[in-house]
Amino acid sequence: MDIAFIGLGNMGSGMAANLVKAAHSVRAFDLNADAVDRAVAAGATKAASLADACRDAGAVVTMLPAGQHVRAVYAEVFTIAPSSALLIDCSTIDVDTARAVEADAVNKGFAMVDAPVSGGVAAATAGTLTFMVGGSDDGFVRAEPVLSAMGKAVIHAGGAGAGQAAKICNNMLLAITMIGTCEAFGLAEKLGLDHQVFFDIASKASGQSWSLTSYCPVPGPVPASPANRDYQPGFAAALMLKDLTLAMQAAQITEADTPLGAKAHALYDALCAQGHAAQDFSYMMERIRRGA
Ligand code: NAD
Repeated sequence: MDIAFIGLGNMGSGMAANLVKAAHSVRAFDLNADAVDRAVAAGATKAASLADACRDAGAVVTMLPAGQHVRAVYAEVFTIAPSSALLIDCSTIDVDTARAVEADAVNKGFAMVDAPVSGGVAAATAGTLTFMVGGSDDGFVRAEPVLSAMGKAVIHAGGAGAGQAAKICNNMLLAITMIGTCEAFGLAEKLGLDHQVFFDIASKASGQSWSLTSYCPVPGPVPASPANRDYQPGFAAALMLKDLTLAMQAAQITEADTPLGAKAHALYDALCAQGHAAQDFSYMMERIRRGA
Protein backbone atom coordinates (compact mmCIF):
# COMPACT_ATOMS: atom_id res chain seq x y z
CA MET A 1 0.00 0.00 0.00
CA ASP A 2 1.14 3.62 -0.55
CA ILE A 3 1.49 5.05 2.95
CA ALA A 4 2.25 8.67 3.88
CA PHE A 5 4.17 8.68 7.19
CA ILE A 6 4.24 12.02 9.00
CA GLY A 7 6.45 12.52 12.09
CA LEU A 8 9.66 10.46 11.93
CA GLY A 9 11.08 11.16 15.37
CA ASN A 10 12.17 8.68 18.05
CA MET A 11 9.11 6.50 17.55
CA GLY A 12 8.04 7.22 13.97
CA SER A 13 11.43 6.37 12.44
CA GLY A 14 11.32 2.76 13.64
CA MET A 15 7.62 2.42 12.80
CA ALA A 16 8.11 3.68 9.24
CA ALA A 17 11.07 1.31 8.78
CA ASN A 18 8.85 -1.62 9.77
CA LEU A 19 6.21 -0.59 7.22
CA VAL A 20 8.96 -0.61 4.58
CA LYS A 21 10.04 -4.10 5.74
CA ALA A 22 6.42 -5.24 5.31
CA ALA A 23 6.66 -4.22 1.62
CA HIS A 24 4.61 -1.01 1.92
CA SER A 25 5.66 1.97 -0.16
CA VAL A 26 6.30 4.69 2.44
CA ARG A 27 6.47 8.42 1.63
CA ALA A 28 8.14 10.15 4.56
CA PHE A 29 7.57 13.73 5.72
CA ASP A 30 8.85 15.55 8.81
CA LEU A 31 9.64 19.22 9.50
CA ASN A 32 13.12 17.99 10.48
CA ALA A 33 15.14 17.17 7.34
CA ASP A 34 17.48 14.84 9.26
CA ALA A 35 14.50 12.74 10.33
CA VAL A 36 13.41 12.40 6.68
CA ASP A 37 16.95 11.41 5.67
CA ARG A 38 16.97 8.65 8.31
CA ALA A 39 13.67 7.33 6.95
CA VAL A 40 15.05 7.38 3.40
CA ALA A 41 18.09 5.39 4.61
CA ALA A 42 15.59 2.82 5.93
CA GLY A 43 13.94 2.51 2.52
CA ALA A 44 11.23 5.19 2.53
CA THR A 45 10.80 7.78 -0.24
CA LYS A 46 11.44 11.43 0.63
CA ALA A 47 8.40 13.67 0.43
CA ALA A 48 9.13 17.34 -0.14
CA SER A 49 5.99 18.47 1.68
CA LEU A 50 2.95 17.15 3.49
CA ALA A 51 1.03 17.47 0.23
CA ASP A 52 3.69 15.49 -1.61
CA ALA A 53 3.48 12.71 1.01
CA CYS A 54 -0.32 12.45 1.03
CA ARG A 55 -1.07 12.71 -2.66
CA ASP A 56 -2.54 9.35 -3.82
CA ALA A 57 -1.93 7.74 -0.41
CA GLY A 58 -3.88 4.63 0.56
CA ALA A 59 -3.23 5.45 4.22
CA VAL A 60 -1.79 8.36 6.21
CA VAL A 61 0.00 7.49 9.48
CA THR A 62 0.96 10.27 11.91
CA MET A 63 3.31 10.06 14.94
CA LEU A 64 3.43 13.61 16.27
CA PRO A 65 4.30 15.23 19.62
CA ALA A 66 0.91 16.53 20.83
CA GLY A 67 -2.70 17.51 20.07
CA GLN A 68 -1.92 20.85 18.44
CA HIS A 69 0.40 19.19 15.91
CA VAL A 70 -2.25 16.57 15.11
CA ARG A 71 -4.92 19.26 14.57
CA ALA A 72 -2.63 21.31 12.32
CA VAL A 73 -1.42 18.37 10.22
CA TYR A 74 -4.90 16.89 9.66
CA ALA A 75 -6.41 20.29 8.78
CA GLU A 76 -4.04 20.14 5.80
CA VAL A 77 -4.33 16.38 5.16
CA PHE A 78 -8.12 16.78 4.73
CA THR A 79 -7.51 19.13 1.82
CA ILE A 80 -4.86 16.99 0.09
CA ALA A 81 -5.35 13.25 0.62
CA PRO A 82 -7.89 11.30 -1.43
CA SER A 83 -10.97 10.63 0.73
CA SER A 84 -10.40 6.91 0.15
CA ALA A 85 -7.23 7.17 2.31
CA LEU A 86 -7.44 5.66 5.78
CA LEU A 87 -6.18 8.11 8.43
CA ILE A 88 -4.32 6.62 11.43
CA ASP A 89 -3.05 8.85 14.22
CA CYS A 90 -0.60 6.98 16.48
CA SER A 91 0.41 10.05 18.57
CA THR A 92 -0.54 10.26 22.26
CA ILE A 93 -2.96 13.18 22.55
CA ASP A 94 -5.99 14.22 24.61
CA VAL A 95 -9.24 12.36 24.09
CA ASP A 96 -11.24 15.48 23.16
CA THR A 97 -8.84 16.47 20.37
CA ALA A 98 -8.81 12.90 19.03
CA ARG A 99 -12.63 12.88 18.94
CA ALA A 100 -12.82 16.34 17.34
CA VAL A 101 -10.30 15.51 14.59
CA GLU A 102 -11.98 12.16 13.90
CA ALA A 103 -15.42 13.81 13.68
CA ASP A 104 -13.98 16.34 11.24
CA ALA A 105 -12.47 13.50 9.19
CA VAL A 106 -15.78 11.64 9.00
CA ASN A 107 -17.58 14.85 7.97
CA LYS A 108 -15.11 15.18 5.11
CA GLY A 109 -15.67 11.58 3.99
CA PHE A 110 -12.56 9.94 5.51
CA ALA A 111 -12.28 6.90 7.76
CA MET A 112 -10.00 7.68 10.72
CA VAL A 113 -8.79 5.88 13.84
CA ASP A 114 -6.75 6.92 16.86
CA ALA A 115 -4.11 4.27 17.54
CA PRO A 116 -1.73 5.31 20.34
CA VAL A 117 0.95 2.84 21.37
CA SER A 118 2.29 1.14 24.43
CA GLY A 119 6.02 0.37 24.22
CA GLY A 120 8.91 2.77 23.74
CA VAL A 121 11.58 3.34 21.11
CA ALA A 122 12.94 -0.23 21.39
CA ALA A 123 9.47 -1.69 20.69
CA ALA A 124 8.93 0.78 17.80
CA THR A 125 12.22 -0.39 16.24
CA ALA A 126 11.55 -4.08 16.89
CA GLY A 127 7.95 -3.87 15.59
CA THR A 128 6.56 -5.07 18.92
CA LEU A 129 4.32 -2.14 19.89
CA THR A 130 0.82 -2.62 21.32
CA PHE A 131 -1.78 -0.46 19.53
CA MET A 132 -4.97 0.68 21.29
CA VAL A 133 -7.40 1.61 18.55
CA GLY A 134 -10.41 3.91 18.71
CA GLY A 135 -12.81 4.25 15.80
CA SER A 136 -15.49 2.50 13.79
CA ASP A 137 -15.50 -1.28 13.19
CA ASP A 138 -14.76 -0.63 9.53
CA GLY A 139 -11.88 1.72 10.37
CA PHE A 140 -10.41 -0.88 12.72
CA VAL A 141 -10.65 -3.68 10.13
CA ARG A 142 -8.83 -1.47 7.61
CA ALA A 143 -6.19 -0.27 10.09
CA GLU A 144 -5.39 -3.67 11.59
CA PRO A 145 -3.12 -5.00 8.78
CA VAL A 146 -1.18 -1.71 8.63
CA LEU A 147 -0.69 -1.60 12.40
CA SER A 148 0.21 -5.31 12.58
CA ALA A 149 3.32 -4.55 10.53
CA MET A 150 4.50 -2.31 13.39
CA GLY A 151 3.29 -4.16 16.46
CA LYS A 152 2.66 -7.40 18.29
CA ALA A 153 -0.90 -6.58 19.41
CA VAL A 154 -3.67 -4.46 17.88
CA ILE A 155 -6.71 -4.05 20.12
CA HIS A 156 -10.01 -2.34 19.27
CA ALA A 157 -10.82 -0.25 22.37
CA GLY A 158 -14.12 1.26 21.14
CA GLY A 159 -15.30 4.32 19.22
CA ALA A 160 -13.41 7.54 18.38
CA GLY A 161 -10.97 8.51 21.14
CA ALA A 162 -11.19 5.14 22.93
CA GLY A 163 -7.58 4.29 22.05
CA GLN A 164 -6.41 7.53 23.71
CA ALA A 165 -8.66 6.84 26.71
CA ALA A 166 -7.13 3.36 27.16
CA LYS A 167 -3.62 4.75 26.77
CA ILE A 168 -3.90 7.43 29.48
CA CYS A 169 -5.71 5.11 31.92
CA ASN A 170 -3.02 2.47 31.41
CA ASN A 171 -0.19 4.95 31.90
CA MET A 172 -1.80 6.49 35.00
CA LEU A 173 -1.92 2.95 36.45
CA LEU A 174 1.71 2.38 35.39
CA ALA A 175 2.85 5.58 37.15
CA ILE A 176 1.02 4.62 40.34
CA THR A 177 2.43 1.07 40.39
CA MET A 178 5.94 2.38 39.66
CA ILE A 179 5.78 4.87 42.53
CA GLY A 180 4.38 2.16 44.82
CA THR A 181 7.19 -0.19 43.80
CA CYS A 182 9.79 2.53 44.51
CA GLU A 183 8.23 3.20 47.91
CA ALA A 184 8.27 -0.51 48.77
CA PHE A 185 11.98 -0.81 47.85
CA GLY A 186 12.71 2.39 49.79
CA LEU A 187 11.07 1.03 52.94
CA ALA A 188 12.63 -2.43 52.40
CA GLU A 189 16.09 -0.77 52.29
CA LYS A 190 15.44 1.08 55.56
CA LEU A 191 14.33 -2.19 57.14
CA GLY A 192 17.53 -3.92 56.03
CA LEU A 193 15.97 -6.20 53.38
CA ASP A 194 18.18 -7.24 50.48
CA HIS A 195 16.86 -6.03 47.06
CA GLN A 196 16.99 -9.47 45.48
CA VAL A 197 15.35 -11.15 48.48
CA PHE A 198 12.51 -8.62 48.52
CA PHE A 199 12.14 -8.96 44.73
CA ASP A 200 11.99 -12.78 44.94
CA ILE A 201 9.24 -12.57 47.55
CA ALA A 202 7.13 -9.68 46.17
CA SER A 203 7.31 -10.97 42.57
CA LYS A 204 5.64 -14.20 43.75
CA ALA A 205 3.31 -12.51 46.23
CA SER A 206 0.40 -10.08 45.99
CA GLY A 207 2.67 -7.03 45.46
CA GLN A 208 3.55 -8.31 41.99
CA SER A 209 3.19 -5.90 39.02
CA TRP A 210 4.82 -5.14 35.65
CA SER A 211 6.70 -2.25 37.31
CA LEU A 212 8.31 -4.78 39.64
CA THR A 213 8.87 -7.85 37.47
CA SER A 214 9.64 -6.31 34.06
CA TYR A 215 10.93 -2.85 34.95
CA CYS A 216 12.35 -3.15 38.47
CA PRO A 217 13.47 0.34 39.64
CA VAL A 218 16.54 -0.90 41.56
CA PRO A 219 19.59 -2.42 39.82
CA GLY A 220 20.02 -6.19 39.92
CA PRO A 221 16.81 -8.24 39.94
CA VAL A 222 15.73 -7.47 36.32
CA PRO A 223 18.93 -7.07 34.25
CA ALA A 224 17.18 -5.36 31.30
CA SER A 225 15.55 -2.62 33.41
CA PRO A 226 16.83 0.99 33.05
CA ALA A 227 18.00 0.97 36.70
CA ASN A 228 20.94 -1.13 35.47
CA ARG A 229 22.10 1.55 33.01
CA ASP A 230 21.93 4.71 35.12
CA TYR A 231 18.23 5.13 34.34
CA GLN A 232 18.71 5.92 30.64
CA PRO A 233 15.26 5.60 28.99
CA GLY A 234 13.29 3.42 28.25
CA PHE A 235 10.40 5.72 28.84
CA ALA A 236 11.47 9.21 29.86
CA ALA A 237 10.02 10.91 32.95
CA ALA A 238 8.93 13.82 30.68
CA LEU A 239 6.74 11.47 28.61
CA MET A 240 5.20 10.00 31.77
CA LEU A 241 4.47 13.55 32.95
CA LYS A 242 2.86 14.32 29.58
CA ASP A 243 0.58 11.26 29.84
CA LEU A 244 -0.32 12.01 33.47
CA THR A 245 -1.18 15.59 32.49
CA LEU A 246 -3.54 14.22 29.81
CA ALA A 247 -5.03 11.82 32.39
CA MET A 248 -5.58 14.63 34.92
CA GLN A 249 -7.23 16.84 32.25
CA ALA A 250 -9.55 13.96 31.37
CA ALA A 251 -10.30 13.28 35.06
CA GLN A 252 -11.22 16.93 35.56
CA ILE A 253 -13.50 17.01 32.50
CA THR A 254 -15.26 13.75 33.45
CA GLU A 255 -15.23 14.47 37.23
CA ALA A 256 -13.49 11.13 37.87
CA ASP A 257 -11.95 10.79 41.35
CA THR A 258 -8.22 10.07 40.83
CA PRO A 259 -6.34 11.06 44.02
CA LEU A 260 -3.41 8.69 43.37
CA GLY A 261 -3.23 9.84 39.75
CA ALA A 262 -3.05 13.45 41.01
CA LYS A 263 -0.29 12.54 43.48
CA ALA A 264 1.61 10.68 40.73
CA HIS A 265 1.31 13.77 38.50
CA ALA A 266 2.68 16.02 41.27
CA LEU A 267 5.61 13.66 41.93
CA TYR A 268 6.57 13.39 38.23
CA ASP A 269 6.17 17.16 37.84
CA ALA A 270 8.64 17.65 40.70
CA LEU A 271 11.05 15.01 39.34
CA CYS A 272 11.11 16.74 35.93
CA ALA A 273 11.48 20.20 37.53
CA GLN A 274 14.54 18.88 39.38
CA GLY A 275 16.25 18.27 36.02
CA HIS A 276 15.44 14.58 35.53
CA ALA A 277 12.95 14.88 32.66
CA ALA A 278 15.23 13.00 30.26
CA GLN A 279 15.89 10.10 32.63
CA ASP A 280 13.76 6.99 32.73
CA PHE A 281 10.54 7.29 34.71
CA SER A 282 11.81 4.61 37.12
CA TYR A 283 14.34 7.22 38.32
CA MET A 284 11.50 8.04 40.75
CA MET A 285 13.41 5.53 42.94
CA GLU A 286 16.14 8.11 43.61
CA ARG A 287 13.64 10.84 44.51
CA ILE A 288 11.85 8.52 46.93
CA ARG A 289 15.18 7.45 48.49
CA ARG A 290 16.10 11.11 49.01
CA GLY A 291 12.66 11.87 50.40
CA ALA A 292 12.23 14.95 48.17
P1 NAD B 1 9.63 13.06 18.70
O1 NAD B 1 9.60 14.47 19.17
O2 NAD B 1 10.93 12.31 18.71
O3 NAD B 1 9.06 12.98 17.18
C1 NAD B 1 8.00 13.77 16.71
C2 NAD B 1 8.34 14.19 15.27
O4 NAD B 1 7.23 14.93 14.74
C3 NAD B 1 9.57 15.10 15.20
O5 NAD B 1 10.53 14.53 14.30
C4 NAD B 1 9.00 16.43 14.66
O6 NAD B 1 9.90 17.12 13.81
C5 NAD B 1 7.78 15.94 13.90
N1 NAD B 1 6.78 16.98 13.68
C6 NAD B 1 6.26 17.85 14.57
N2 NAD B 1 5.34 18.64 13.97
C7 NAD B 1 5.29 18.24 12.66
C8 NAD B 1 4.54 18.68 11.54
N3 NAD B 1 3.66 19.69 11.63
N4 NAD B 1 4.74 18.05 10.37
C9 NAD B 1 5.64 17.04 10.25
N5 NAD B 1 6.37 16.57 11.29
C10 NAD B 1 6.20 17.20 12.48
O7 NAD B 1 8.52 12.29 19.56
P2 NAD B 1 8.40 10.70 19.80
O8 NAD B 1 9.17 10.32 21.02
O9 NAD B 1 8.62 10.00 18.51
O10 NAD B 1 6.86 10.61 20.21
C11 NAD B 1 5.82 10.75 19.24
C12 NAD B 1 4.49 10.45 19.92
O11 NAD B 1 4.53 9.12 20.47
C13 NAD B 1 4.16 11.39 21.09
O12 NAD B 1 2.80 11.70 21.05
C14 NAD B 1 4.54 10.56 22.31
O13 NAD B 1 3.80 10.92 23.46
C15 NAD B 1 4.18 9.16 21.84
N6 NAD B 1 4.92 8.07 22.50
C16 NAD B 1 6.27 8.15 22.68
C17 NAD B 1 6.93 7.10 23.29
C18 NAD B 1 8.44 7.15 23.49
O14 NAD B 1 8.98 6.30 24.23
N7 NAD B 1 9.15 8.07 22.85
C19 NAD B 1 6.24 5.97 23.74
C20 NAD B 1 4.86 5.90 23.52
C21 NAD B 1 4.21 6.97 22.90
